[in-house]
Parts: sequence; structure tokens; C-alpha cells
Amino acid sequence: MKKFLSGLFALLFSLSNTNVVAQKNTKAVDKNLQQKEVAIKNLDSKYDDYKKQALQIWNFAEVGFIEVKSSALLQQTLKDNGFTIEAGVAGMPTAFVATYGEGKPVIGILAEFDALPGLSQNANPEKDPAGTAAGHGCGHHLFGVASVAAGIELKKYLQGNKGKGTVKVYGTPAEEGGSGKVYMAREGLFEGTDIVLHWHPDSKNSSNPYTSLANKTAKFRFKGISAHAAGSPEKGRSALDAVEAMNFMANMMREHMPSDTRMHYVITDGGKAPNVVPDFAEVYFYMRHPKREILMELFDRLVKTAEAAALGTGTKMEYEIIGGVYEILPVDTLARVMHSNMKKVGGVIYTADEMSFGKKLQESFVGSKPDINEAAKVEPYKVMDEDNRSGGSTDVADVSWVVPTVGFRAATWIPGTPAHSWQAVACGGTDIGIKGMMVAAKTLSLTGIDLFTNQNLINKAKEEWTKRRGTNFKYVPLIGNRKPALDYRDKTQL
Ligand SMILES: [Zn+2]
Repeated sequence: MKKFLSGLFALLFSLSNTNVVAQKNTKAVDKNLQQKEVAIKNLDSKYDDYKKQALQIWNFAEVGFIEVKSSALLQQTLKDNGFTIEAGVAGMPTAFVATYGEGKPVIGILAEFDALPGLSQNANPEKDPAGTAAGHGCGHHLFGVASVAAGIELKKYLQGNKGKGTVKVYGTPAEEGGSGKVYMAREGLFEGTDIVLHWHPDSKNSSNPYTSLANKTAKFRFKGISAHAAGSPEKGRSALDAVEAMNFMANMMREHMPSDTRMHYVITDGGKAPNVVPDFAEVYFYMRHPKREILMELFDRLVKTAEAAALGTGTKMEYEIIGGVYEILPVDTLARVMHSNMKKVGGVIYTADEMSFGKKLQESFVGSKPDINEAAKVEPYKVMDEDNRSGGSTDVADVSWVVPTVGFRAATWIPGTPAHSWQAVACGGTDIGIKGMMVAAKTLSLTGIDLFTNQNLINKAKEEWTKRRGTNFKYVPLIGNRKPALDYRDKTQL
């Protein structure tokens, strides 16, 4: 009987204890939801402010490493909101780290702001160059402002809840070919940061674990001998011939490369006049592959074509590595959390005017014209799959190998809009882009709140990331020890 009674007491005690834990959990969930609602409301109330800033940066349209005004604007906003700014980090005048708070966990958010050369466009649904040298064809003006907005929102969260932790907004210049984040990773600026968040403008909303292509880029420069092209051609050695010979061999290489390789080039200098044998010519190559080990072999073969071209044309060759990035290392644990937050935020709803802008814009598309209402949806979660890869490359990838990193894509462009197009620039200059930017700011903020409130989530993500990365991993950047290529954009064309 005594035994029975003590057993009964133990059972009752454990039941009531479970009840207390359950109540505590429900309270925590309620509080978490409440905090998220506050963040969403705060961001909604700042729509006009952030719109103004994004459009300012859209109008500046500054290319890689020359984003002086864009970077200054974002820094000022963060400073006005109590962040401490460290500017000009890792040898790049427009890079910065903005910090608020103290102690662990440390949550980082990446902010880009560079534009693309040759993509000048007004906010119109028909091709209409704005007269600027560059345009925001990749939506990095939205990227930068949404990340800054989320950083400020997380600061408010920490303040309001007397929470411990640090928010860091990383101002990362020259994403488009300049590999800005690689120098920041090499400098160790992500050491001590627990999780990094990022996002990217797109024509749909998706938050899946995805990877990208590793990429190595270089400018090959040939030096020849000038002579009158008709009067004494035998005295000249054409640097342009060397560029053409290299391109010919590189194009022949395509047949003997893995089929998932991507290689492209532009001739950045092909001489000045047909009647002068060019004594200088330059070609700028990109080589990409899903795996950086294979990419490195392919790149070495490309260098051989340049050496052979110089030999055959009697010219001299030297090359400069301009950029190099890894492939993204995804983390499923974090992507799932990001996805559920994005579902909570929801997609983009267009007004009737925005719909007709979109329809007009779609008339200029080559290929498919998806339903414009797709922007209102969030793509269903896709489980981790190596083939889930964006066609491009990003320097976010290097960050993802030094700290667990998670990103998503938000619909800032009318469905079907390709990146790096005048259509993307056009959308980015209207509320179509701004609405997508606010979806991003909210999704980042909500995920940040989850990370600040749930240390287990951070631990689980780190565990998965460490396993995926491999225990013997050592970060060796593809750019070697070169200094930031601050002049990689041809300023004469700006
Ligand atoms: Zn981009």
C-alpha cells in the first residue's frame, strides 16, 4: 500500500511538472509570436523611410568599390540608430562593420550595395536608359537597405527585451566581381560571429537550402609591338592577335570541360585603331564550376591557353586574378527556420497599377511569362539537394565556409524577370522592388529573433555545418594574398 501511494504521488508530481513545462513552453511561444508581430509592425511603419533610402542608392547606381555615397548612407542610418561603425575594413574604403549590443550570441547580417555597369534604366516598363553609367540590375540597393532595416529591428528587439547578444551589419562592397566579402573573410572579420543571415533580390520568394557556382576570374594582358598596320606590319606583333588566339583555344576547351562548367569573357581592350598594330590588349575571363577543386584545374588550363597564345604571336602575357569565390555551403537547420518565417511574412501583393506595369514589362521577356500573382506566394520548402543551385556565383559563399550562413530570395522583380537586366533595374526603382525589400527585412528580423531566443537552434546549426564542412577544412581563399582589386571597374566608362 505504501509503495502504491508513493508511486501515485510520483505520478501526480510528474504530471503536474509536465503541465508546468508545457505552460512555460506555450508562454514562450506566445511571447515569441508577440515579439515577431512587433517587428513586423515596426517595419511597416518605416516603409516610406526605407523606400526613400533604397531609391537614393538606386539613383546613385555606384559600381564595385566606388560605392562611396551608398555605403555612407547605410552607415549613417546605422549610426543614427546607435550602432558603432568601423569603416574601411579589410583594405576596402567602402566596406564597414556596424555593431550593436554585447556578448553572445552574435548574429551577423550581410548588406550589399553595388550596381552593374551598362544597365542604366528609368523606372519604366519599357527600355529607357536613364543616362547613368550603371544600374541596379541585381537589386543590391534593396539588399543593403533591407539588411540595415533588419539590423535596426534586431537592435530594438534586444533593447526592448533586455536580451543579451550582438547584432553586426556587414557592409560588403563589390559583390559583382570584386569579391568584397572574401577579403573580409580572409581578414577574420567573421570570427566570433555565430550565424550570418543574408538574402537576395529575385523574381520569386523562396527559402531553400541552395548552393552556387564557385568562380575564378582574371584579366589576361598581352604586350606586343606597334607598327604601321599596312606600311610595316612585319615589324609589329599584335597583342590583339594574342587575345584572339587565346579566346580561340579557350573556346575549343569547352568541348573538353565538364558540362556544368561556365566560362565567359569580354575583351576589355582590343587596340585603338585598325591601322596601328595594337601593342596592348586585354581580355577578362570568368570560369565557374559547382566544385572549387575542379574549377581550380580548369582555371590552370585556361592560363595555359594564354601562355600558348603569347608564344605563338610573339607577345608577352601576364595575368591578374581579379576575383575568386567558393560555392555556398548550405545549412538545412537554418533554412527551415528562415522558410517558416518567410511563410509567416508572406509574399508581395501588387496593386492594379503595379500589375499593369508588370504585364507591360513581361511583353519584353524572351521565353516564359509566369503568372504575376506568383509573387504573392512562397515556394514550398525543398529538402537539401546538391543540385539546388543558383546559376550564378556569390562571395557570400566564402562567408558560408567560415560561419554558418543562411539566405533566401525575395520577389523584388515581376515574376520571370532575369537578374542583370534593364527590367530588373526598372522594378527596383518602383514599389514593386520596395515591397519585396520589406518582405526581406521582415524575414531577416524574424529569423534573428528566433536565433536570439533559442541557443539550441544555434548549436544544432553549428553541429550540422561542422559536419557538412568536414573536420579538416581550412579556409584558403581563391584570390590568394592579393589586395582588393579597387580599380577592377574601368572608371573611364563610368
Ligand atoms: Zn546580386
